[in-house]
Amino acid sequence: MENQILVENYSVLSDPKLVWKECLKIIKDNVPFITYNTWFLPIKPVTLENSTFRLEVPNTFFIEWIDEHYNTLINKTIKQVLGYDAKLNYIVTEDNSSPDPSATSQLVTGSEIKPAQKEDVLFESYLNQRYTFENFIKGEGNQLARAAAVAIADNPGETSFNPFFIYGGVGLGKTHLVQAIGNRINKTLQNKKIIYLSADTFTVEYIEAIQSNTVNDFSNFYKSMDVLIIDDIQFLIGKEKTQDLFFQVFNTLHQAGKQIILTSDKPPKDLKGLNERLISRFQWGLTADIQPPDYETRIAILKKKSENYGISLPPEIVEYISTNITSNIRELEGCLIKLLANSSLNSKEINLELAKKTVKEIATDRKVVISIEYITKTVCEFFNIDENKIRDKNRKKEIALARQIAMYLSKSLTKSSLKTIGLHFGGRDHSTVIHAFNSISEMIETDSSLRETVSSIKNKIEMSVG
Ligand code: ADP
Ligand code: MG
Repeated sequence: MENQILVENYSVLSDPKLVWKECLKIIKDNVPFITYNTWFLPIKPVTLENSTFRLEVPNTFFIEWIDEHYNTLINKTIKQVLGYDAKLNYIVTEDNSSPDPSATSQLVTGSEIKPAQKEDVLFESYLNQRYTFENFIKGEGNQLARAAAVAIADNPGETSFNPFFIYGGVGLGKTHLVQAIGNRINKTLQNKKIIYLSADTFTVEYIEAIQSNTVNDFSNFYKSMDVLIIDDIQFLIGKEKTQDLFFQVFNTLHQAGKQIILTSDKPPKDLKGLNERLISRFQWGLTADIQPPDYETRIAILKKKSENYGISLPPEIVEYISTNITSNIRELEGCLIKLLANSSLNSKEINLELAKKTVKEIATDRKVVISIEYITKTVCEFFNIDENKIRDKNRKKEIALARQIAMYLSKSLTKSSLKTIGLHFGGRDHSTVIHAFNSISEMIETDSSLRETVSSIKNKIEMSVG
């Protein structure tokens, strides 16, 4: 037994592939995601002999860039993994014909990078495999959107549906559908670089890139995609700098015939606060809406989903739920899960009475989804300040106070972690969030006017959600 562990340890420490894999894990936690994808994923370990670690990179520019920016990080990381200092030695991939040091975008668009990424399955698309066309139920409300999605999945970038813009209310299947496109392409066309993310994440990453001076990496990374899927594009409203950058990414991809897929809660023309030039581009391709499911579709969804859980619901229950939960599919699904939970937790059989109780609970649950976005928006409206100011480094007293209040309310009213809250406020540290929370809590104790301010903002948020 002990021997085996020793042998295993030994192999970890000597096999260049395993060593590099360990290094990547550490590096990933220490650099922005874009930097990781752009500069570290393409590196291939070659040999590890006589304390020299030989790494293969796509071209000479890589060596200069890494040496200049990440030398310390790589050396430290290798020492941490190996337990000793190793000398680094870079070699350039042989068949790399024309490295162009001035064109950083070449580095990520070049096809030489793809095999490495696919082979090691290290490139992350952030797609959830759960979302497929196979388990997306057709209905009148989603017919056009679904048909277009399938067409795009079969020929990404080659249909006139570029961009493909899906809009509709919450819980109607927008995210499911756009991820289904990504998942299908991943399966059928293996060498496509696909990425899925929400506009919110895009913004947070952009802010991180600004702070860490890696805006070029950030934009080159997205410009190198074959398929770019951005969910909930309405989150770009009011974020002008992010919109500018997204505009560049959009143009580069569109000109290169790469597929762009977007979702939103409203049609392009209603996205007030979004730059006109973006709105007009969103209308270049195909815009499709998703409508709430009609009664028949709701029945079909409930039947199919309960079958997936291995149960067959009596018709009267399916009908009861379909009649009473009408707004969206997420709620239908939520109701079913809750029903199953209620039944198994209390060892009760699934009957109409239990279904009624569950539907009632769902109606109560509806009231408690408050997002950090929404809190921020309300606080900014209250103080009449620009939402961007609350995120950037502005230290003006009133803005700093608004920011602290928004952090305080995010901590009190949502289940988000301190880290997530920090990210929403310009990538601030979790300790900044704790500090904000504590100081507002203290001030409220003694300062009655502040107490009233905070409480009236809180009421406003809770009222509009309820
Ligand atoms: P949206 O992005 O529009 O808010 P989602 O795509 O997140 O909605 O859908 C909410 C939930 O409902 C998800 O779990 C999704 O799988 C499910 N869903 C939505 N539409 C369908 C459909 N047509 N068939 C099956 N499941 C669906
Ligand atoms: Mg969604």
